Amino acid sequence: MNKTFEQTIDDIYAWVDEQVHGASPRCEISGRCCHFRKYGHRLYISRVEAERLLQVPLPQPAERLALTLDAIREQCPYQVQGRCSARNQRPLGCRIFFCDPTFEQQASEITEAAVQQLKQAHEKFHVPWEYQELGQFLVNLVSETLPRNFPSRVDSNSSQ
Ligand code: SF4
Repeated sequence: MNKTFEQTIDDIYAWVDEQVHGASPRCEISGRCCHFRKYGHRLYISRVEAERLLQVPLPQPAERLALTLDAIREQCPYQVQGRCSARNQRPLGCRIFFCDPTFEQQASEITEAAVQQLKQAHEKFHVPWEYQELGQFLVNLVSETLPRNFPSRVDSNSSQ
């Protein structure tokens, strides 16, 4: 049976989960890495990962979240009380990143292999490759679904 693009992405997620599970990295500061600014990092993902993440409803309606790039650079909107509310659809970076320093090298190898697989899937299914910051995707994709009278709550220009 020929696999669809979506099934191929499922397989990549499953492969990554298996690799990470096999390595059993430690998570010592549970959930703090989703506070991007405090933690000092930014999360980059592909469009298909963003679309899958957005299949999970945001914990609050987007109109109430003041969903700006700056706000998302502060903290992922899917984190609720220290936990990921979109665990099954979280992007590759969230599946692979752990604060365990002994896992660093392996994490970067898994990331490289997973991104390679993801790019190959895009090529095979003729899906354009788009890769950018999580916040940029969320702001743009959510804006497309909001009524026109909410433009000020979803502001892709407040990026600094
Ligand atoms: S999707 Fe989940 S794991 Fe990833 S940054 Fe957001 S809250 Fe954290």
